[in-house]
Order: sequence, then C-alpha cells, then structure tokens
Amino acid sequence: MSSENSPKLSIVTPMYNEEVNVKRFCKRLYAALEGLPESWEVICVNDGSSDRTLDLLLREKARRDRLTIVDLARNFGQHAAVLAGFTCSRGEWIVTLDADLQNSPEEIPKLIDAFRRGYDLIGSIRVDRHDPLFRKWASRLTNRLIRAISGISLTDFGCMLRGYSREVVNGILKNPEYRTFIPALGALFARRPVEIAVQHEDRAAGESKYSMLKLFSLQLDLVTGFSLWPLRALFFVGSFIAASGLLMGLLILALRLYFGAEWAGGGVFTLFAVLFFFVGAQFFAFGLLGEYVGRILQCVRGRPPYVVKEIYPGLPAQVVDSGSEHQEVA
Ligand code: UDP
Ligand code: MG
Repeated sequence: MSSENSPKLSIVTPMYNEEVNVKRFCKRLYAALEGLPESWEVICVNDGSSDRTLDLLLREKARRDRLTIVDLARNFGQHAAVLAGFTCSRGEWIVTLDADLQNSPEEIPKLIDAFRRGYDLIGSIRVDRHDPLFRKWASRLTNRLIRAISGISLTDFGCMLRGYSREVVNGILKNPEYRTFIPALGALFARRPVEIAVQHEDRAAGESKYSMLKLFSLQLDLVTGFSLWPLRALFFVGSFIAASGLLMGLLILALRLYFGAEWAGGGVFTLFAVLFFFVGAQFFAFGLLGEYVGRILQCVRGRPPYVVKEIYPGLPAQVVDSGSEHQEVA
C-alpha cells in the first residue's frame, strides 16, 4: 500500500468495548507521536464493539489529524482486528499496541530507534508486568511451551507493543491464516529481529476482554497454529497408554490366577478408574485431531478473517502540518 506520500510510521490498535479508554489512549498516543521527526498515521480498528467506542473514536477523529478508523462488521478477535489494521496501513514501519494503555505509548520511540538501526521485527518484553498472578504464571508457562515446540524464539509472545517492517507485514498479509497469532506469524517473516524491554502498566480502565475460556482458546490457537508437535505427542502418549493397559491386563490376570475369582470381583472399581482414564485420553486425542482438522477446513473454505463495515480515512500525511498541537477538550 505504501507510496511516495505514505507516512513512515503506522500505529495499529484494535479496540473492543474500550469506551472508557478511547479518549485517554488517543491523548497519550498523540502526545508520544508528536515528538517524532518521522511522519505517521494512526489506525484504530473497532472490533465490533457494542459500547460507544466507535462514537468516541469518530469524535476523536473530528479533532485529530491522521486518524483512520476501521469499523469491523462484528467482533472478530484481537488478531483479526490487527490484520484489518495492517491492510489499511501505509507506513514502512508498523507498530501495534493495545488500547487499554497497558502498553505505554511513551515507549514507541524505543521501537522507532530499533527500526532506525535496521531491525525489521521489534519484539518487546514486559518488565514488571501488571497482570493478575495467574495470567503471569500461565503466560510464562505458555511462552516456554510455545518456544520449545514451535522453534520460534520470542521471549514474550503476549506483549502486543511490537514493531513490524513493511516486508514482514506484507508477508503476514499474504498468509491470512485462520485464527492466527500475529507476533508468532511475524517472527516467521523477519530477517533481523530484536527484542527490547518495555514498561507495562495496569489496564487504565475497564476489564480485560479475555475470559478464561477465550484465553485458553487463544493459547490453543498459538499451539496448533504454529506446531504439529502435539499430533506427534499423541502418538507417544497413545503408545504409552496402550502399553500400560496391556501390562495392567497381564498383571490383573496373574493376580486373578493367584488370588482366585473373588479378588477379581473386588477390583472392579479399579478397572473402572482405568477405563475412565483411557476413555478420557481418547477424547482428548480426538479433540486435538479435531482442532487440526477444523483449521484445515477453515483454510480450505478460505473465508476472510474479518469483514470491514466502514473505513473512515484519515487525512493523508502530506497535507498535515507536522507541528500541529492538539488541545484536550474538557
Ligand atoms: N481486543 C479486540 N478484540 C477482542 C478482544 C480484545 O480488539 O476480541 C483488543 C482490546 O480492546 C485491547 C487489546 O485487544 O485493545 C487487548 O485486549 P485486553 O486488554 O482485553 O487483553 P489482556 O491485556 O487482558 O490480555
Ligand atoms: Mg490489556
């Protein structure tokens, strides 16, 4: 999408029911961007919010330059929303960040600095992370797991304050995968990646959009989207369970011969327990296979990962006075 008049930097932010954060997010983001010598644009993607997020964004747009709003037809999820933002972005450098101010906009110059030094994928590592203990613990575990099984060496998969070069974004856009995970996908196309430490804050207001179930399914997307290792593990786990079942059968037979038929009747509950375990293991395996088969089905169908309802374009960068000030309206 980039042309001669394109801005150097595009900021992409997905928003889902962020009415409490829109105003303060724009204020802090614009303050951080106005100090940059490079030209820039901001793309906010309204991911089917059911609150006043779109209204408030349109209000911000009336008083701010260079703000493009992409309004999606319904809620498609954070990563699909980022994809929609990428498609509309024109910059050579693209930075993603969350709208709840957990990623500080003031850290953006650090990413820009890395771009200037020639890196094409700038990851970030949240120092002093502000999230519930369970989230921190779970994400440490999944970061380690994903690193091990996908071979992608990112330290912090979850932090969305990231920078992507135009080449990396084009690579991502050429492979619009079903239910993807942008930071991991970006890592596949990078030639000179780097990671920097950034500050992390408490959510400015409102609640996390991730319920336990949504969080779990996101992690499952990450695992099954980037590795076939769980399928292979199924083979080993299945073999182990089958071998133990066989051994247990032999053991029970031997005990039955030694202690007589009465003993076998007494052990019926143990057998039930063993049976439930095997049945459970089989369902788990079917579920995992189903997840991969489902992904194949979605890819074969080739449905778009998101549907845009309306785009409210920002002013082109070249007609914007780069020194313009934006005063907060009370
Ligand atoms: N988000 C989105 N669509 C969704 C869920 C979240 O666009 O379906 C946005 C949300 O508005 C925020 C970012 O993605 O800007 C991260 O969401 P959140 O802060 O709820 O995630 P957490 O920080 O709890 O991981
Ligand atoms: Mg958040």
